This record gives sequence, structure tokens and C-alpha cells, in this order.
Amino acid sequence: MGATLLLGCIADDFTGATDLANNLVRAGMRVVQAIGVPDQPLDTPADAVVVALKSRTLPVNDAIAQSLEALRWLQAQGAQQIYFKYCSTFDSTAQGNIGPVTEALMAALGSDFTIATPAFPDNQRTVFKGHLFVGDVLLNESGMQNHPLTPMTDANLVRVLQAQCRRKVGLIDYKVVAQGESAIRDRIEQLRADGVGVAVVDAISNDDLMRLGPALKNMPLVTAGSGVAIGLPANFGIAPSSTASVLPAAIGLQAVVSGSCSLATNRQVQAFIQTGRPALALDPLQIAAAQAVGKDIVAETLAWAEPLLAQGPVLIYSSADANAVRSVQGQLGVEAAGALVERTLAAIALGLVEYGVRQLVVAGGETSGACVNALAITQMKIGPQIDPGVPWCHAQTNAAGIDGLHLTLKSGNFGTDDFFSKAFTRLA
Ligand code: ADP
Repeated sequence: MGATLLLGCIADDFTGATDLANNLVRAGMRVVQAIGVPDQPLDTPADAVVVALKSRTLPVNDAIAQSLEALRWLQAQGAQQIYFKYCSTFDSTAQGNIGPVTEALMAALGSDFTIATPAFPDNQRTVFKGHLFVGDVLLNESGMQNHPLTPMTDANLVRVLQAQCRRKVGLIDYKVVAQGESAIRDRIEQLRADGVGVAVVDAISNDDLMRLGPALKNMPLVTAGSGVAIGLPANFGIAPSSTASVLPAAIGLQAVVSGSCSLATNRQVQAFIQTGRPALALDPLQIAAAQAVGKDIVAETLAWAEPLLAQGPVLIYSSADANAVRSVQGQLGVEAAGALVERTLAAIALGLVEYGVRQLVVAGGETSGACVNALAITQMKIGPQIDPGVPWCHAQTNAAGIDGLHLTLKSGNFGTDDFFSKAFTRLA
């Protein structure tokens, strides 16, 4: 089976891995997402595997070690090209980890040149003259300048990446990209001759990414957001096809668990409530108070859900607006509040699956990580897209004595307002 693997991908976070896998599937590849580095060989036919790490904000050396372990596993499966995937807002700390992981992978692959571009025009991430735009504003005006872990205060990616790299960082600008493959290849040779090891690439449209794709054929390592993925499968003779996203038929009960407090998720919660379907809000202060007196809030929530599940999807959510979140964080502490809610929602997700839920929507990146752990999921086959960046998956699990379930992991700000209803219609 190993020799069939074309593209081996390493993603620095969890919902980001799914986002990449989704783009590869839409371009025709059969994709498996592994949760962490697998401890056994790939046992499912796949054109690409995305190894999902949680390395974005780890200490640099740990991020490098995990990424190299993922590389070795992917190489053992026969991967012909390696794709290091990071966030489309280039989320990194002053030390990295994008630059150091890129250089460690280059060294391990014996590669002297790679590209770097977080461009993802479908989600309004564009790169122009080396500067990253989020919608109509520069990265450092997009809100990302206030991110708690990876504040992005400079939109000039050449400068940002150079600060993280030992090798010289250069630029392949939009004028070159507009001329297509041979101009891009010429520019790469010129940069190489100038001693450049990593080049940021402009891309302001999907057409740019499709022109870039052929120029990346045979490049041992590509580093990018998920956007570049749309232009790579054609290099392996793969064309978009609906068969790549075929999942087993959906069965069982339906539920949504939401711990995301992002604006889009809050709108999705309200839209679901307005459909008249059952929804239960969990307040972190109530959870903490219940815990203090030994009350089992998970069991109570599951008892609420059980009789309702037979009639259609139910929603269990802790999602709240920024003021409410700040107030809770003020009383419980930021990390403690997050961990308490994640633990509770993960236990509820597991309980729902034990009650027969086999179609589960989880909203929130951290929340997804907690639920995937609780459900002991090791691997997911990526299916059809619900909204940009969010596909249905079929997850393998031994939890609750079952083989698998349909799962979608929605990153906070992704998805239209009707996502929580639309997701189930899409699967049917
Ligand atoms: P997103 O993808 O929107 O960032 P995450 O799940 O990654 O969502 O992050 C949301 C964080 O907020 C989680 O740690 C979650 O446990 C926490 N959280 C959820 N609801 C609340 C709430 N009502 N008050 C405080 N924190 C909350």
C-alpha cells in the first residue's frame, strides 16, 4: 500500500489539517487524516495522508521533533512529495514555528529550495507583494494582531519568515505568477542562484494557485496554507472527481456539540435554535458550581438529549458572546474555563455516541481536539465539503464499541449561519 501514497502532509493544527484535506479531496485525491503520527502503516487506500499535529505553539524543538517524526512515517508510506501546512493567517510566534520546521524538513529531505504561501483566496486570504491580506485589510489590522498566542503584527511575510529562518527568504511576486509555470521556474532558478532557500509566493486568486501548481511538480517540500493544495493533484495526473469524497452511507442519530465562541458559531447557534430544534446551553459557571457539589452535569445533559434524539438533531452548546466569555474567564481563569468546558463537552460527545449518535458536528478547534481525543479517533477519511474548509469525515474509533462515525470538525469562524442544519442535509 505504501508505494501508492503521492502526497504526504504535515499540518501544525487540527482543524487546519481537515481544511487541507478538504481542498485535496475537492481536487480529486482520496485523503486520510491521521490524528498524530500513526504507530502502524497506512491500511486504507489513499493518494494523500495529512498527519494532524498540534505543533503550532509548541516549543520550537518539540515542533521540529514531531514534524520530523511525521516526515519519517510519511516517507515510510512512500510519499513522493511533502506538504507542510500552516494557518492561512501564518500563525506563528516570534521564534517560529513555521521557519524552523520548514528548515528542519528541508534538511531532512536534502532540499535546498521551497516556497511559502498562506494564500487561500476562497477564504479571503491573499498575498500581494509579499503582504498577507485578510479580506480587505492587512494581516496586522485583521484582529490577528491581538491573538493571545500568535499575535501577527507584521503583514510582510518575507520579513516575518526571514526573522524565523537561517536561510535567505525571497519573493516570487504576482507579475511572475501571472506568467505561469515557466516564468515561475525561471524565477526559482534565479532566486536559487542568489542563495535564496525559501520564497514567499504571491497569489491573489485561485487562478494564481492553479498556475503555481505545475511549477511545484517534483519539489520535494512545499510549505503553504491549504490553498496551494488545489493545484497539486493535477501534477500526479489526478482530476477533480466526486468519487474521491465518497464516504460510507450515513446512519444513526444526529447531534451538534459547540464550544466555539467565535462570531460565526454564535450566529449558527442562534439559527439552529430558530429552526425549533432542541438546544441546550451549558454555562461554565453552572458546570463549575455543579462540580463543586458533586452533581453530574454530563449525565443530566445526556438524559435531556436521549428522548429527543429520535426526532432529529439536537444541539448542546457553551458558545457565548465575548462579554459573557470575559466574565466567565474573570471568575474561573482563562485556561481553567476553557479546559472545564472542553472536558465537559468531550464527555458529552462520547455519551451521545454511546446513545447511538453516528453523525456528529463539533464546532471549535480546541473543542474538536478534546472531542476527538475522548472518542479515541485515530484516523478519518475525508468526504464531501459542507462549506469552504469544512468537510464531512468518516472517523475510525473503537470508543463505545463501534467501528466508526460521521464527524465534522468546524473551525470557529467557518461556515454559513445555517451550518448546523445544512450539515445533516448535505450528508443525507
Ligand atoms: P474556536 O475554533 O472558535 O476558536 P475553540 O474550541 O478553539 O473555538 O475555542 C473556544 C474555547 O473557549 C475553548 O477552550 C472552550 O472550552 C472555551 N469556551 C467555550 N465556551 C465558553 C464560555 N461560555 N466561556 C468561556 N470559555 C468558553
